[in-house]
Amino acid sequence: MQTEIGDPLRRSARTVITDLRELAKLTSNPNGAQRVAWGPVWKKARGWLQEKLSPLGLTPVPDAAGNNWVTLPGESPKTVIIGGHLDSVPNGGWLDGTLGVLVALEALRRYGQGSKPPVTLRLVDWADEEGARFGRSLLGSSAAAGRLKVDEIRELRDADGVRLEDALRDSGVRLDTMLHARQELARIDAKAYLEMHIEQGPVLESLDRSAGVVLGTFGLERNMVRFVGQAAHSGSTPIAMRRDAFLAAAATALECREIARRHSRPGAGVVCTVGVVKVEPGIVTAVPGVAEISIDQRALDPDVLAVMYREAQDASHRFAHENGVSVEWKPLFRIEPRPFDPHLLQLCEESVREVTGDAPKLPSGPLHDAAEMVPHMPVVMLFARSARGLSHCKEEDTPEEHLEKAIGAFLLLVDKTVESVARR
Ligand SMILES: [Zn+2]
Repeated sequence: MQTEIGDPLRRSARTVITDLRELAKLTSNPNGAQRVAWGPVWKKARGWLQEKLSPLGLTPVPDAAGNNWVTLPGESPKTVIIGGHLDSVPNGGWLDGTLGVLVALEALRRYGQGSKPPVTLRLVDWADEEGARFGRSLLGSSAAAGRLKVDEIRELRDADGVRLEDALRDSGVRLDTMLHARQELARIDAKAYLEMHIEQGPVLESLDRSAGVVLGTFGLERNMVRFVGQAAHSGSTPIAMRRDAFLAAAATALECREIARRHSRPGAGVVCTVGVVKVEPGIVTAVPGVAEISIDQRALDPDVLAVMYREAQDASHRFAHENGVSVEWKPLFRIEPRPFDPHLLQLCEESVREVTGDAPKLPSGPLHDAAEMVPHMPVVMLFARSARGLSHCKEEDTPEEHLEKAIGAFLLLVDKTVESVARR
């Protein structure tokens, strides 16, 4: 059953969609959005946002990492932060990141006219969420969270050889003082962080739902696994006498899929991908002596992720033994799961259900700025469905009827959060 979205929320949702269209027109070419962080179009987008804020008497204030903060003071210093990012990938879409910022703008409009809101509201436009030019995602939010390692990014360059450090300086950000952005969270009484984003995947569309409650961002365990046997002639070596490294790798890859199937629960899916396969000597007439595969496992529950990782290791050793080969694991990358706050999840579920009639829950595969805020305050995200699961391309879209409902649900979540923070 679909409930009807109330008139004031619908009007607000329409305003957000009009703003989104206007910004897209201003910052896109026929290939899509061009708001790449630190570049001229991104700066134009930020200038446009500043103009939109001026009727409210509000101005964005940059922190030491180039994140723009807009503060609407309330009766209480207790603060609800609403975030997003204006930057896009090259040839990107009209919704990724901008939806979060412009729905925050509308929240400020709703609370900024007339009397003071009961709590302080802050909009944050994170700098360089995408990492499209220099390869480091979540740059601004990880600096604000204090997790950024400045020395790891010092030598980064873009495709034209321009150093990150120089591009940042052109935007008034100095690498050596970027971490001062931490003060932004330290000096305020942040009680909640809310972010709306498009799903960028096919799940909500497959359920025919406009919006979903995001349970958290996946943790990740990524390894290279190397099997070493003996290369041998494919004609003269009997099957029983082979030490085929590829067969051990292939059996492990198939077992990893079974592990992911076994640990998937409704609303708590897990994934595993073998995306790289290298075989040596790579000759049609040779039994492979070496096979190397990547194993990328993701889950929201840290215990589940740990068990998946252990089971994959056990499987690799079992298949290595069966094939008479050795196996070695080499870690590539790991991230802790970032589950969202139970109370905010509850409010998000109520909001999505009231506006759309149902409240599907799903984890986020991609990382978001929200994940950086999890250690610092209660966090929740709401996803709007994505057409065909597409993003980071000009085809990125959410049909307006669904976008309207999803925005309505998010603005309701802002109301419920403000009310709840004010009461505490
Ligand atoms: Zn995004």
